[in-house]
Amino acid sequence: MDLSDLTRDLAALRDEAVLSIEAASDVAALEAIELDVLGKKGRLTGVLRGIGGLPAEDRPRVGAVANIVRAALEGAIAARGGDLRGAALDARLRTEAIDVTTPGRPIRRGSLHPINETIREIADIFGQFGFVTYEGPEVEDDLTNFQMLNIAPDHPARDLWDTLYVDIDGQLLRTHTSPGQIRVMTSTAPPIRALLPGRCYRYEAIDASHASEFFQVEGLMVDEGTTMADLKGLLDQFAKALYGADKRTRFRPGYYPFTEPSVAFDVECLVCGGSGCPACSRSGWMTILGAGMVHPVVLQYGGLDPERYQGFAFGMGVERIANLRHSVGDLRLYMENDLRFLDQFVAAGRVEAAR
Ligand SMILES: [Zn+2]
Repeated sequence: MDLSDLTRDLAALRDEAVLSIEAASDVAALEAIELDVLGKKGRLTGVLRGIGGLPAEDRPRVGAVANIVRAALEGAIAARGGDLRGAALDARLRTEAIDVTTPGRPIRRGSLHPINETIREIADIFGQFGFVTYEGPEVEDDLTNFQMLNIAPDHPARDLWDTLYVDIDGQLLRTHTSPGQIRVMTSTAPPIRALLPGRCYRYEAIDASHASEFFQVEGLMVDEGTTMADLKGLLDQFAKALYGADKRTRFRPGYYPFTEPSVAFDVECLVCGGSGCPACSRSGWMTILGAGMVHPVVLQYGGLDPERYQGFAFGMGVERIANLRHSVGDLRLYMENDLRFLDQFVAAGRVEAAR
């Protein structure tokens, strides 16, 4: 082998390698070619092994040619690598492109349960008349739930409440929010304006209008000189705030052991406006709550002198108030937590949440 053979081999290697470099389809293929041609055991090194058989004066010339070939190949690899990496980046940017005009995914917002919303609305209305909201315990004793409200152990009125008893000496799940009257009277000095919303329990067969758990709002006002006229004026204002300023209201005689006299409070039918329809049993009126003047015995149990103080109390079923407001016919819907039902109240809940 002489000088011209070696320089010819180097030129052939260069030409062939440059073609394959330019044809490399991706960065990995290019790296394989680089290793094959320029690596320690690569083809360039292989050609240069023949240098040992040359005369000493020719060796530097072959070395110079080899360096030129190496530089040319390195240049070709760098250029092709730049092209390939640029193309790969372009492709990735195309596939990962973010379309800023795509609408965002909607965020599901929660809202108040219609029962909570109704309780807040009731509390808002009475709050404007100075009523302060209190909470009483859901587990009560027989004394506060019944006896101090003038319902003796053998009183026939106990048939009104099918009670769920807790298995601890005389404790029970409150059957109404009325025991809160006793708790407020024994802990607060008159004048009293208290609102007591809360969950109540009764042993009931569950149907469209009966539940074993339900919500009531109790109201109590006690002061010197409180009269039935104060009660009537307050409830009339309440009904107008809730159902519309044009709504007529009326009192009817009623019966509760803890009020005397007792009344049922009616608002004119929200469906027919008073002319009579199936919703109001053709009476033109709908009963929304029960009320009355606090019985003197109850005032005494509350630690107040009935000769000096008078008071009135009222109690309403929250589900009934909500039913009339939203035209819901089955109170089981409030307990089932079906979002198809609850979502219909989202708009109202948002208004409440924004306040
Ligand atoms: Zn009607």
